[in-house]
Amino acid sequence: MTTTQGTGKDTQTSAEPGGSKSADSVTARLDSVRHSIVETASACGRGDGAVTLVAVSKTHPAEAVEEALAAGQRVFGENRVQEAKAKFPALKERFPELELHLIGPLQTNKVKDAVALFDVIQTLDRPKLAEALAEEMAKSGRRPRCLIEVNTGEEPQKAGIAPAEVGDFLADCRDRLQLPVTGLMCIPPVDEEPAMHFALLAEMAGRLGLAEISMGMSGDFETAVRFGATHVRVGTAIFGARPYPAT
Ligand SMILES: *Cc1c(COP(=O)(O)O)cnc(C)c1O
Repeated sequence: MTTTQGTGKDTQTSAEPGGSKSADSVTARLDSVRHSIVETASACGRGDGAVTLVAVSKTHPAEAVEEALAAGQRVFGENRVQEAKAKFPALKERFPELELHLIGPLQTNKVKDAVALFDVIQTLDRPKLAEALAEEMAKSGRRPRCLIEVNTGEEPQKAGIAPAEVGDFLADCRDRLQLPVTGLMCIPPVDEEPAMHFALLAEMAGRLGLAEISMGMSGDFETAVRFGATHVRVGTAIFGARPYPAT
């Protein structure tokens, strides 16, 4: 077998956790994504650590998460409470600094489990969910940070708060419900340039005094970094194609 990884180097392609450096390993892809983030951030004068990479492991097995953990990754995103519950509690015990983000829609009947397991809930997208989260946080004493999901494209079929309503929603979440809201997130329409949506989200976060801005996925995370993302959510570029559709 020929190797394309340089000469005289041991390029064993065994799936040894964290040790595999073949070009399509999780470790190598993670390196490459991190490198792009740092390069892009520094090109716009943003410092080291300005952008947190959320590795989106939905549909991928715990072994893939372990490989990323071995490569130093500590922040992960999942879109379903049930799936995250099956994969992450044991890993969180072994890696106490692991930070888990919910990036998918949250049904109110899963709020209890979500508050128990996640450290950040990025999909606070409606008043009823805000009420349920406030109630569960008061009951459990656990207070995962919340990001308001903004429907920047005002797509009728899409979850999220309309841009014009975010200010009032934020005030209600904070003042009346005492929720720890720390930022905004968006998923731009698939058929539009993401840049204008990223610009809008960053402008809103600045105006509302919110420090965390979650935007950008495998196809557009560099653009998101240029527009001020503090969190990018990258799945495919790290873990490869998903074995089955995520939703
Ligand atoms: C799946 C998902 C991602 C990651 O998407 P990739 O294109 O695989 O990087 C990011 N954000 C959300 C909300 C997702 O559901």
